[in-house]
Amino acid sequence: MSLKENIDRFNNEVEKYNCKLVAVSKTKPVELLQEAYDHGVRIFGENKVQELAQKFEVLPKDIEWHMIGHLQSNKVKYIAPFVSLIHAVDSLKLLKEINKRAKQNNRVINCLLQMHIADEETKFGLDKAELLELLNNDEFAQFENIKIVGLMGMATNTDNEEQVRSEFRGLKNLFEELKAQENNFPNCAFSEISMGMSGDYQIAMEEGSTMIRVGSSIFGHRNYQSQ
Ligand SMILES: *Cc1c(COP(=O)(O)O)cnc(C)c1O
Repeated sequence: MSLKENIDRFNNEVEKYNCKLVAVSKTKPVELLQEAYDHGVRIFGENKVQELAQKFEVLPKDIEWHMIGHLQSNKVKYIAPFVSLIHAVDSLKLLKEINKRAKQNNRVINCLLQMHIADEETKFGLDKAELLELLNNDEFAQFENIKIVGLMGMATNTDNEEQVRSEFRGLKNLFEELKAQENNFPNCAFSEISMGMSGDYQIAMEEGSTMIRVGSSIFGHRNYQSQ
């Protein structure tokens, strides 16, 4: 299938579920991103700060750039002027730095808190207790230049569909629980659940995803393994 066919197919799919497509373009050359842009893609996801900043420089300015990978505090400054959404925030320390850099740029930066939902040791993310501790933290209440707009999660990399489904369902339930009491939390307006990748986006949408992050099913396989 051509790039255009892939994009059209995903756009049709996400529309059915009232979901958004984040085209994950990490490791791919800007020419290919430009081609995807010409076929209507406006949200791109990257997982490396330097690559993200370089692509931002040369591509059209109406693109929404999402940082989807693990972000180190000392690199926030490079993307703070332009990034639309940071998906994988999992510490107060990182939020503090994002808030500081957002303020310097006169912006409010939207963030998702990454939850650990997979049955795997290696993935980043918070558990529910850590999440509540963060949202109730006094220092967090002062971060006026960030807004927490939802949650992000990565399911276990397994063929067991029921397991993946139940992990996504757990994230959706937690999201609803928080949304119901969001007035109690400062700097929060829960509207997004970022879940689903090439291997499990269908299940994720069925379970209530509002943003799927799809790379290889749109752009083809990556040449090197990247997180
Ligand atoms: C690479 C990546 C994706 C996309 O993975 P595919 O399997 O290629 O769709 C989604 N989310 C995150 C956090 C990633 O790093």
